[in-house]
Amino acid sequence: QPELAGDFGTLMEWADKVRRLKVRANAETPLDARTAREFGAEGIGLCRTEHMFFEAERITAVRQMILAEDVDGRKAALERLLPEQRSDFVELFEVMAGLPVTIRLLDPPLHEFLPHEEAEFAEVASAAGVEVDVLKRRAAELHEFNPMLGHRGCRLGVTYPEIYEMQARAIFEAAIDVAEKSGAAPIPEIMIPLVATRRELELMKAVVDAAAKQVFAERGREIEYLVGTMIELPRAALMAGEIAEVGEFFSFGTNDLTQTTLGVSRDDAARFLTTYVERGIYPKDPFVSLDVEGVGQLIELAAERGRKTRDGIKLGICGEHGGDPASIAFCEKVGLDYVSASPYRVPIARLAAAQAALHARG
Ligand code: PEP
Ligand code: MG
Repeated sequence: QPELAGDFGTLMEWADKVRRLKVRANAETPLDARTAREFGAEGIGLCRTEHMFFEAERITAVRQMILAEDVDGRKAALERLLPEQRSDFVELFEVMAGLPVTIRLLDPPLHEFLPHEEAEFAEVASAAGVEVDVLKRRAAELHEFNPMLGHRGCRLGVTYPEIYEMQARAIFEAAIDVAEKSGAAPIPEIMIPLVATRRELELMKAVVDAAAKQVFAERGREIEYLVGTMIELPRAALMAGEIAEVGEFFSFGTNDLTQTTLGVSRDDAARFLTTYVERGIYPKDPFVSLDVEGVGQLIELAAERGRKTRDGIKLGICGEHGGDPASIAFCEKVGLDYVSASPYRVPIARLAAAQAALHARG
């Protein structure tokens, strides 16, 4: 750990003795996971699986899956993706040996998967054995004017449960492979994105549980796992009491929660938020430093309602704010269990968590 050696290393050791909040990392590649561990991450708080789906050699199968006209077409493409998805998780579990790994099931804005170029359509057509025109018609049907508020997150899982079924299978097969190889079973935390209602989570948890049951029967071995949810919509925060009847943990997705609470697009905000900060409308860019007054209230309320239903429910944050010191101070105040930050922000998060703990002691 060259970066953390010497005096800085000593300072980090002190920080770790003082802090209460755990610090995890947002990572989906083995390289990021390794970097995160070198910087002291205590697990993965967010593995965004859609990033795995964008890899060059998979994207055609992914597009084939999205553009398939029926469940059999989707299943054929998913079968091609399963072995690679399984090895993704094997690698992550190995790097994070013994530490928690939170895997978020697919959450892409759909338009990012659709082919645009003629050559891309041609590739999918030849893989799927269908005409380019059929694919273009299907892509036009799937077009959305506002994809970030569209068919993404668990909405995709509700309409195409076979996607989450494949991912859950990959997770359980990988966990058992690693358990058999290393003797230590990983405990995956499976996270459902963009949940707004209890029923969505219930349906998706049933898909995950069914996959678990099947894999455990096939392999003659069971492993522990948790199924929880992102809290990233105001409705989810308000309904956290009900959602906690099903969800075994919450992770606050403060990027989307900020976007949907403020009604400001996270992708376009930079264009006018600088002026907003200059004019004193928000003290800081709310996508960088948590809007404690507004979004913070939703987090506090959700934490309180979640705990009331499920005593001691595990609570974390995995939006960009998880690496911002002022936001981390807020997480300490609300009593979250962990923050999850991008790998290079893990040391900052460790220091900020210690500082927040010292402040809390007074
Ligand atoms: C979030 O919304 O805060 C989050 C962590 O998910 P993503 O950034 O992938 O939408
Ligand atoms: Mg999100």
